[in-house]
Amino acid sequence: MIMKPCNKCGIFKSLASFYRNKKNKDGHVNICKDCKREIYREYQKQYNKTYCEKNLETLRTKSKEKYHNNKEKFKIISKKSYQKRKDSHLKGCKIYYIENKEKILEHNAKYRNKNRPMINAQKKEFYQNNKEKHRKWAKDYAINNKDRLDECRRIRERERRKDPFIKINKNISAQIRSALKEKKNGRHWESIVNFTLNDLINHLESQFREGMAWENYGKGGWHIDHKFPVSWWKFRTPEDEDFKRCWALKNLQPLWEKENLSKQNFYFHL
Ligand SMILES: [Zn+2]
Repeated sequence: MIMKPCNKCGIFKSLASFYRNKKNKDGHVNICKDCKREIYREYQKQYNKTYCEKNLETLRTKSKEKYHNNKEKFKIISKKSYQKRKDSHLKGCKIYYIENKEKILEHNAKYRNKNRPMINAQKKEFYQNNKEKHRKWAKDYAINNKDRLDECRRIRERERRKDPFIKINKNISAQIRSALKEKKNGRHWESIVNFTLNDLINHLESQFREGMAWENYGKGGWHIDHKFPVSWWKFRTPEDEDFKRCWALKNLQPLWEKENLSKQNFYFHL
């Protein structure tokens, strides 16, 4: 078999690997078919690029026109083509997410921080436009996930009960509410009395008797006692002088449950 080297890649190939050309001695060109094809591809690419660059605006208008005239058809085509590669696409996304989780989360957080006002506005607008849908969704979700939501609520409650300061907060709030017979008008008790939860904690701690600790606050342990019981004062609103005196720090003390009950004011203890 006659072999000759290609002028481009230099590889020795059989004559059949070269296109024919009668002008040449051996009846074939000097560049192999593979290299010729490669040259043609490069040329085509370059030509297309130059053509696109030269006619960018026309091409854009044309393609836009084509899209507008065949909108529905294009939508169906793109939908079909997406359905075809949906599974592999989603799988790819998932793999990419797992492999780049840290990076993605960091990027998302940065984006959110940078665009918070815009995101909030979008959320608000979306909610306004989908109010009914959202309500129905929330309702359905609550119905379909009742067991899970109940369990979450129970865990939260349990955690809350464990924390004595949260318990105090809740108890005082309930106590003041009932003392004022629902006239608290949604105000937090700290804004009604002359002390904060922190003041109260320090005040009670300073009067702890032996064995008293935050761990045994409440049922079976110690309670917050009104030295002069609530029933002793006459008040109807938080602005009344008697209310201020009843709920003054100096009228509050920690007291063991047993002693508190023996005071016969058990419905006034906290
Ligand atoms: Zn070649």
